Amino acid sequence: MLVRTLILGGGLSGITLAHLLHSRGQQVTVLEADERIGGLCRSRTDNGFTFDTGGSHIIFSRDTEVLEFMQNVLSSNREKRTRNTRIMYRNILVKYPFENGLAALPKDDLFFCINEFIKTYVKSEKGEIPPPANFAEWIYATFGKGIADLYMIPYNEKIWNYPPASMSAHWVEGRVPRPPVEDVIKSAIGIETEGYTHQSVFTYPAEGGIEALVTSIARGIEDCIVTGFPVRSLTFRDGAWEASDGKRTHRGDRVISTIPLQHLMPCLDNVPVSVQDAIRALRYNSVCCVQVGIRGTVPDISWLYIPDREQSLANRISFPSNFSSHVAPAGHAGILAEITYNEGDEVSRMTDSELVTHVIKSLEQMGFLTQEQVVHTAVDRQKFAYVVYDLAYLENIRIIREFFEAQGITLVGRFSKFEYLNMDGCIRQAMECVRNWS
Ligand SMILES: Cc1cc2nc3c(=O)[nH]c(=O)nc-3n(C[C@H](O)[C@H](O)[C@H](O)COP(=O)(O)OP(=O)(O)OC[C@H]3O[C@@H](n4cnc5c(N)ncnc54)[C@H](O)[C@@H]3O)c2cc1C
Repeated sequence: MLVRTLILGGGLSGITLAHLLHSRGQQVTVLEADERIGGLCRSRTDNGFTFDTGGSHIIFSRDTEVLEFMQNVLSSNREKRTRNTRIMYRNILVKYPFENGLAALPKDDLFFCINEFIKTYVKSEKGEIPPPANFAEWIYATFGKGIADLYMIPYNEKIWNYPPASMSAHWVEGRVPRPPVEDVIKSAIGIETEGYTHQSVFTYPAEGGIEALVTSIARGIEDCIVTGFPVRSLTFRDGAWEASDGKRTHRGDRVISTIPLQHLMPCLDNVPVSVQDAIRALRYNSVCCVQVGIRGTVPDISWLYIPDREQSLANRISFPSNFSSHVAPAGHAGILAEITYNEGDEVSRMTDSELVTHVIKSLEQMGFLTQEQVVHTAVDRQKFAYVVYDLAYLENIRIIREFFEAQGITLVGRFSKFEYLNMDGCIRQAMECVRNWS
């Protein structure tokens, strides 16, 4: 008997799962709330400018199987680029990661960074630094007070919209670049070094923005995807799962959820209070993406981190027309600013037009454009953008996963697994899930 799998959510995770199961001859139905698939990996083209609506995306991975999968599905629709990323530190463009660009700092700051880095390194080698109890302690123990105070702490406070001292440190290894001491010393005296190397060359769809990755994976399985279907209830009845949007019902023998846990919870009628409390306690950030199309050119920078809130509310600015030559009209360029926020804060209360005005003004002050060059603007907001690992995360997620496992509901993807997963992590989870079932 053929088994039918119901997949909740048609973002990258849901579509990859469907593609993999379908290619093994299995029956699948993807239920996606929106009218279009893609989730955070969606893009829009207006006035000749293509922007990613869930923040600027690039394709990179240490995982060669996953990287090949992404590149193969895009086939010839991809361009390859060498990363040229900067950090805006007091109007100086410092090479990224910061510890690989120290020579660009004013001499006093450079001394502060290298002196504290070496002191910390020596202490650590002597075993004098206790294991970090939170993310801030990890930053100080890894980089020393100089790099921490000048860049790592302010930048992380800004992107997470949450104090690093209130965040867990369990996730940082492999995510936040940990520098070899030789590289930091070389960079301080001006010898070129490269950090975070698995990302130093990346690819991007030539046409269609990052959404082209998801639509390429969906090719051939379009009939298995139901859009405009917000799952509102999920029940196990007479040996099968039933998912309903209140009007229509789809049935399956097993179910994989890739939708945010906060959306899955109200679909079930048997969630214990302890699990409900754990889900409500999970922290996440939203992101607002301000898109600016200009006449003329932008510097040859891939993207730029901005730790200083006074310089801009945006934590990162990307230049997508440097990723592909097809995402802006000839003689024009695109700039994408990302601002993280939480419901109820200052940014969440700003209108689109206030956000655009702010971003253009800050871009002008940083010297990236003049008002007169702007020919296109748009704003997109994503409610679920970043998982924030607070100190209660590990206990909350344990309670949640135990419950869903006992229910027989498999969780895959960024806000279903509730992990800081990039695209490669989502695809890896989908591959493992399908392998375990075959
Ligand atoms: C600012 C930013 C930049 C990023 N940059 C990169 C990058 O450069 N490289 C990289 O590899 N990764 C990057 N990522 C991560 C990447 O976007 C995610 O890993 C990936 O898109 C997550 O896919 P997903 O399918 O798990 O989740 P989602 O994309 O969130 O998909 C979930 C889907 O479920 C649907 N849904 C929700 N509720 C329901 C419901 N009740 N019923 C039916 N459907 C529902 C949603 O509409 C959505 O389509 C970035 C993320 C952000 C926020």
